[in-house]
Amino acid sequence: AAAGEILLVAERITRRFGGLVANQDVCVTLPRGKVHVLLGPNGAGKSTCINMLSGDLPPSEGTIHFMGKDITGLSAAQRSQVGIGRSYQRTNIFPKFTVLENVRLAAQSRRQQPWRIFSRAMKQQWALDKARACIEEAGLGAKVDWIAGVLSHGEQRQLEIAMVLATDAQVMLLDEPLAGMGSDESARMVEVLKRLKPSRAILLVEHDMDAVFAVADTITVMVNGQVLESGPPAQIKASVAVQQAYLGQEDSF
Ligand code: ADP
Ligand code: MG
Repeated sequence: AAAGEILLVAERITRRFGGLVANQDVCVTLPRGKVHVLLGPNGAGKSTCINMLSGDLPPSEGTIHFMGKDITGLSAAQRSQVGIGRSYQRTNIFPKFTVLENVRLAAQSRRQQPWRIFSRAMKQQWALDKARACIEEAGLGAKVDWIAGVLSHGEQRQLEIAMVLATDAQVMLLDEPLAGMGSDESARMVEVLKRLKPSRAILLVEHDMDAVFAVADTITVMVNGQVLESGPPAQIKASVAVQQAYLGQEDSF
């Protein structure tokens, strides 16, 4: 698990929806120990890019490799098995289950058929132990036995992170994990991301510039499905092209 090891490489991935080109020739490299932020106005193609990396959406063109293997043809479930995990822009938890149960189910989902993980007999100790560790890592240790549905919005996003961790994700694809959070919740999530970063590769879609510049090692700016510029935060901050693209946009910085 060497830092810097390249885990995921997307080469010139393109996705069309009818006549619309939602991603064109997008290249992304995700090394372990780094956070790569995708930035861009609404409709730029950020979620489409994540969907192609996660296997939720097949690319129209281009290839995706994970640890040297071509995974372009693998489904989302298969990619989860090999170590690519994602969160969704909408929360994706069982609100009537406890935090621990939600994360246990996520831990077991990687190894077992979905219908089996709900059986009480399948409550395995390894999965409970792993769930507790992931909940701790996601900063939710104090709420392990809470019913998920009563957690605050921010805590539910932390729960989602714990669920991704429970699948042993080496690559974490996080689509707007700070969306709808207050500043305290955002700050807590940024701390969680910093803590997770050394041992994993993280791709993050985020609008909050304070958070972006607090965690990003590389930033790729997308506009109209294309990469406008990609590089270290200082380069992006100084880029005239990026500043012009953001002029008049709601997420200007
Ligand atoms: P972002 O996440 O940056 O806001 P998206 O990737 O969601 O952008 O969308 C990029 C473009 O692709 C938008 O014009 C959007 O309407 C379009 N799009 C996204 N998903 C679909 C889909 N499943 N079918 C048709 N068009 C889509
Ligand atoms: Mg999106």
